[in-house]
Amino acid sequence: MEPLIECRVLKKYFNTDSGTVQAVDGISFSIFPGETVGLVGESGCGKSTVGRTLLKLIQPSAGEVLFEGENIFDMDRNRLDRLKRKMGIVFQNPYSSLNPRMKVADIVAEPIRTHRKYKKDEIRRLVIGLLEKVGLNREHLTRFPHQFSGGQRQRIAIARSLSLNPSFLIFDEPTSALDVSVQAQVLNLIEELQEQNHLTYLFITHDLDVVRHIADRVMVMYLGKLVESGPVPEVFESPQHPYTKALLSAIPGFEPGIRKERELLEGEVPSPIDPPPGCRFHPRCPVVIEKCGQIEPELKTNRQRQVACHLCEM
Ligand code: SF4
Repeated sequence: MEPLIECRVLKKYFNTDSGTVQAVDGISFSIFPGETVGLVGESGCGKSTVGRTLLKLIQPSAGEVLFEGENIFDMDRNRLDRLKRKMGIVFQNPYSSLNPRMKVADIVAEPIRTHRKYKKDEIRRLVIGLLEKVGLNREHLTRFPHQFSGGQRQRIAIARSLSLNPSFLIFDEPTSALDVSVQAQVLNLIEELQEQNHLTYLFITHDLDVVRHIADRVMVMYLGKLVESGPVPEVFESPQHPYTKALLSAIPGFEPGIRKERELLEGEVPSPIDPPPGCRFHPRCPVVIEKCGQIEPELKTNRQRQVACHLCEM
């Protein structure tokens, strides 16, 4: 099967007054049609930057992103606009991602009006259909975002993301701003919509428990690099990278097969402006060896598993 989206040696650096932030530093991966891939890591590891760069919402510094085999970074404006209809993103905070001065009907209809020529009543019919898909209804059309709960606002954001009938959606921490009680409902909705609409997802989150429930594969990022990836059952049962083991050990009540004791991460994530040499994880790694501070481990592949650690044989 050909990947729907393929990311090749993607880099995104930001120049700041304090230096160059290496937010994403040469990561490569593929996502296949119908898959849900979880992208996880601590705050500041670059995972949200990956999502925004994949959709060219921000300019990449280097690399390629192929969607259905075409490099979106090489396209002219018209082609990119047409292709972007097939891709969408749902952001973390439904309180800031929806325009507070627009009615729900206009929020959901805006992408349709921009990209397609429909008559007014056709647009209204499409918008009602989208609202019903996410568990809302026509009574909500004339209301403003502040009249909804957080969970309902995220449903509106999801309806909007579906308005152009995309094949690929990125969810960037879609439930972390919501009450625990509504998180499960929104996750269930996201799963149902995938099945009904044959969607492919990149699910960005710091919450590995969410990934365990929703994703087929997981990719673990640390300070701009991918350090481990693989099918969710395998990575959760038998994590290889010390960072993945530490993240998993922080899930309450979760005990991966190979680990008996809790491995808490010590220290802060180092600055991406001046990342540590060698393995970027070495200042915090509980099993660091001498060469870790000098030589960067390559990301080794064995079938569906990948890991970048000097101590891991694949
Ligand atoms: Fe730890 Fe070294 Fe492996 Fe990095 S390469 S995770 S520092 S053992």
